[in-house]
Amino acid sequence: MIIMKFGGTSVEDARAMKNVMEIVSGEQQRKPVVVLSAIAGATNALLLSAQKALDGDLDKAHIELNALLERHVLLLENLIDDRSDIQQLILTIRKRFDELKTLCQGIAILGELTNRSLDAVASVGEQLSTMIFARALAEQGLSVELIDARTFMMTDEQYASATPIFDRIAAEAAVRILPFLQAGKIVVTQGFVGSTIKGVTTTLGRGGSDYSAAILGAALNAEEIQIWTDVDGVLTADPRIAPAAKKLRVISFREASELAYFGAKVLHPSTILPAVEKNIPVIVLNSKRPLSSGTRIVADPPKSKVAVKSIASKKGITVINIQSSRMLMAYGFLSSIFSVFQRHQTSVDLVSTSEVAVSLTIDNSSRLEQIVSELRAFAEVNVYERKAIICVVGEQMRSTAGVADRVFHALNDIPVTMISQGASEINMSLVIDEDAMVQSVQQLHKEFFEPVPELDLFEQVDA
Ligand code: ASP
Ligand code: MG
Repeated sequence: MIIMKFGGTSVEDARAMKNVMEIVSGEQQRKPVVVLSAIAGATNALLLSAQKALDGDLDKAHIELNALLERHVLLLENLIDDRSDIQQLILTIRKRFDELKTLCQGIAILGELTNRSLDAVASVGEQLSTMIFARALAEQGLSVELIDARTFMMTDEQYASATPIFDRIAAEAAVRILPFLQAGKIVVTQGFVGSTIKGVTTTLGRGGSDYSAAILGAALNAEEIQIWTDVDGVLTADPRIAPAAKKLRVISFREASELAYFGAKVLHPSTILPAVEKNIPVIVLNSKRPLSSGTRIVADPPKSKVAVKSIASKKGITVINIQSSRMLMAYGFLSSIFSVFQRHQTSVDLVSTSEVAVSLTIDNSSRLEQIVSELRAFAEVNVYERKAIICVVGEQMRSTAGVADRVFHALNDIPVTMISQGASEINMSLVIDEDAMVQSVQQLHKEFFEPVPELDLFEQVDA
């Protein structure tokens, strides 16, 4: 069996959904479990309506909900032919929106919006998209089973970012899903949505559908997990920055996780984990161009001839330099630094230390002021904003000499604020001024990928 996950833009309207139906029916022989996101923008709209209700603006909440209702009605009218099917679906969908409005009223009256209520609201997007999709597949004469993710995706009670309970999920999924696959049915279910053991709706956090797909793939020992999105796969760089960027046919899980953090907008980093543990290949594919081969993310790809496989970049980085005023790196210094960041729930990305100073980067500067003022109690602190991280990634960097040379040669006269070589030795990260990011990525791309260094690894993507 395989998992096929489609993101919001892949199901955003009738045309997109028809396309997905074709892709799914082409894989019917492989026993697909289809995991869907809500239609593009639905989760945002749902969360916004709850927020408006909390602000006491029920009118605005209703406007949001009505617009979303209209989008779903339009979708199914353009997707489904049978009039009585359409009428029945519209009735069901209206009922769901009536429930949402009641929920919003409750939120407005109480003036309280808990994560538990947010999950109840947010989960409706996936319930609607899967309901419409399953019906459309059935209308094509395919044998389909729509299965509510809340019957198997068991989580803890940490609403809005619930943690899956893997052994329970494996046990439930085997019972709830396998019999239908064995009977030759295509299974359709929701991404993102889960349930506590007691049956209360949870969600896995924003963008959680990829994670759902990986969890389910691991639970059912899938032969592969397909993540269908609107990009061609993992590229050598962001094509908007480096137009000559090529697609990678295969990369390792470790390379993918490094890239995911650095803004390769392909996968949610934690998606990788359940698949890695079971050694299940994840394939990133483009639903707008189903014939393109995508990128395979596997545990042990064939050894490449090149050291560098991809360049990732991320703006909006803040560098904090911390110098001990008295203690000169006395023991406990680093831990007092990190405890400040921990207290302010701000994660530190790159760290580099010398005998007397520590440099680190954060990408969330919402608590910067408090952090700096607490650090100043025991250290000298300098802050540099508007920085960018450039990250050069490749498994073979570990065993190839001269990569750093080439990086610095390519960057030529662009000043580098900070360098960090990950413990994994498969990435090297540089911090530079935000304004120099585009030029740096372009120069590095020229150095490592133009001309294409290994033809069977890098593939042309057509515009
Ligand atoms: N619909 C959810 C979100 O927008 C989950 C997902 O699409 O992955 O966050
Ligand atoms: Mg997504």
